[in-house]
Amino acid sequence: SGRCARAAALLKELEERCATPLGKLRQVADAMMVEMHAGLASEGGSKLKMLISYVDKLPTGDETGLFYALDLGGTNFRVLRVQLGGKEQRVVKKEPKEVSIPPHLMVGGSDELFDFIASALAEFVASEGEDFHIPVGRQRELGFTFSFPVRQTSIASGTLIKWTKGFNIEGTVGEDVVAELTRAIERQCLDMRVSALVNDTIGTLAGARYYDNDVIVGVILGTGTNAAYVERAHAIPKWHGLLPKSGEMVINMEWGNFRSSHLPTTDYDQTLDTESLNPGEQIFEKLISGMYLGEILRNVLLRLANEAALFGDSVPPKLETPFILRTPVMSAMHHDNSPDLKVVGTKLKELLGIPNTSLKTRKVVVQACDIIAKRGARLAAAGIVGILKKIGRDSAAKDGGDTPRTVVAIDGGLYEHYNIFSECLRSTVKEMLGEEASASVVIKLANDGSSIGAALLAASHSQYL
Ligand code: ADP
Ligand code: MG
Repeated sequence: SGRCARAAALLKELEERCATPLGKLRQVADAMMVEMHAGLASEGGSKLKMLISYVDKLPTGDETGLFYALDLGGTNFRVLRVQLGGKEQRVVKKEPKEVSIPPHLMVGGSDELFDFIASALAEFVASEGEDFHIPVGRQRELGFTFSFPVRQTSIASGTLIKWTKGFNIEGTVGEDVVAELTRAIERQCLDMRVSALVNDTIGTLAGARYYDNDVIVGVILGTGTNAAYVERAHAIPKWHGLLPKSGEMVINMEWGNFRSSHLPTTDYDQTLDTESLNPGEQIFEKLISGMYLGEILRNVLLRLANEAALFGDSVPPKLETPFILRTPVMSAMHHDNSPDLKVVGTKLKELLGIPNTSLKTRKVVVQACDIIAKRGARLAAAGIVGILKKIGRDSAAKDGGDTPRTVVAIDGGLYEHYNIFSECLRSTVKEMLGEEASASVVIKLANDGSSIGAALLAASHSQYL
């Protein structure tokens, strides 16, 4: 029928616009590398901020004692305590707790947000059991994972550059987020010092490095997306401080803000961007991350409903609600293996109020999921390859010598739970690097690495060392 033909045509157009053939991915990887150089050369030299983290040594395993971590950067925040036992015992005990952030606090006042966090932290500290030990007279220390762009001024201070991922809190941009947190901690009468301020990418890198010495890249694929990696200090022209003893410096790329004419974008992306809290910004993130994939899908389905009557003569009103279709739902529909696509049918009905969809309609929905998710996964893969190229880890040793092992640690709910996405990312990295080079590149899930990493960095930057 005419409707089917129209739907097919729209899908085909989507597929073509979202296509990421190898040649295009190589252009994206090269553009990423070029922007990395530019961002390292000078402040403001690129869309990539390439932020200096002040982390010039990563965990070794020798860290000991009780440390706390607080991880803020998405829909939830996590608190964690770990008892570190050094090389032999490693993590003697760890206890995490997750707290969801009431949505009104994400767009409210700074004090309200930090008071809420500090109060949850105080409550958590109050529940510390006997398995955790702090020497008498010592202050508890905290690693603060704060996953927004921050201009770091030392390992334990930094000012917020901008909010992302749906946060929009007045009066915090330009402020020192450690000072904000510290004041809130004091208002709770909690005796605790913030010893390290890190980005989640750096927490992930540090947490994974603790167990594996070859980890040199950390990537987040969750609500948002970002990456950090270990750079040679003398390859950072904009760094005018002393060269660190290690000769290395961890760089927080803030790659979510990457953009390039080579990125395959569509009208749907344009709409999403225009309607977002941060138009024109975080373009790479808006193609890839968990906050946006479901919303892109909604935009596609809305157009299919409007122009091809995909769901019948009228457009389901709920489909007009921004962000009603979250990425976990998209993922559940995409992974539906049942012959009649039962999960797709149920989700459309329960979430969008669309009853009795035909198998044909459900198949269209799954196809749209596939196109959107795979574009995101392949672009993330191209970003990773761009980093590997920048640090010369994208090819096997030429003289027949040993190729060093390179580990990329990835954390985040999108990568952890969206299997089609993560599988596609890994196979695309392989496809781009080729058989030989990819043999020495390992991509692994660093589950909850970012909180542990912050605690480890608090330990290695403890006031008592
Ligand atoms: P954050 O990035 O907020 O710190 P997470 O790393 O836990 O938190 O990632 C949460 C995000 O991961 C969610 O916003 C969602 O987009 C995505 N996500 C969670 N579960 C799934 C799932 N089953 N399938 C796809 N994406 C998921
Ligand atoms: Mg996170």
